[in-house]
Amino acid sequence: MKKKNKYKKQDLDQKKSRIFAELERLYQKMEMAYNEIASRLGLKCSECEDNCCVSYFQHHTHIEWAYFFKGLKTLSQDRQKQIISRAKEYVDLSKKELEKGIRPKIMCPVNENGLCILYKYRLMICRLHGIPNTVKMPNGITKKFPGCSMCIALTKNSPYFPIMDRTPFYQALADLERRFTKLLKNPIPKVDYTLAQMILLGAPK
Ligand code: SF4
Ligand code: SF4
Repeated sequence: MKKKNKYKKQDLDQKKSRIFAELERLYQKMEMAYNEIASRLGLKCSECEDNCCVSYFQHHTHIEWAYFFKGLKTLSQDRQKQIISRAKEYVDLSKKELEKGIRPKIMCPVNENGLCILYKYRLMICRLHGIPNTVKMPNGITKKFPGCSMCIALTKNSPYFPIMDRTPFYQALADLERRFTKLLKNPIPKVDYTLAQMILLGAPK
């Protein structure tokens, strides 16, 4: 019986690893598309005085949440404890801000000295934020976003500038998410969490 469970777990782990590999390829495609547009716009994060890691990002997939935890587990126990402690502060403070009707602007718990310490494992929105983009929603409505403040300054006098269509990336991620949640025992009906909340909840089961 024990052996059977062991094989079952190995099989499950292999299936998850294969989907993670697909997620990594999708992230690479996003990165290529992002870099191409950012370079045409002349957008350089290295020249930016803002840090968008203080943005109140919410994330919506178990697969990205689980992949982030794969990265978190590569850190030492001490470092993980520090991140958990910062995540608690983030959640407490953001709750207070939201109660006052203020959109929180708090540094992400995995940012240290201005840099993401889990850059390889950062989530989709961290990868796509900044450049102008559109997305066609499942209800057929297309939403448009102008990009970050530095990008708005760069494009404000341009009659034409490149825009990223996020739709194929969202669709590909939704497909991976559908397949990944089938491997979970207790998927949550609607994931809608900040990274700090995800850290405190632990990896999705
Ligand atoms: S995406 Fe925009 S706001 Fe964020 S660091 Fe880059 S230039 Fe700055
Ligand atoms: S995960 Fe990394 S890139 Fe994303 S907000 Fe946090 S520190 Fe920034």
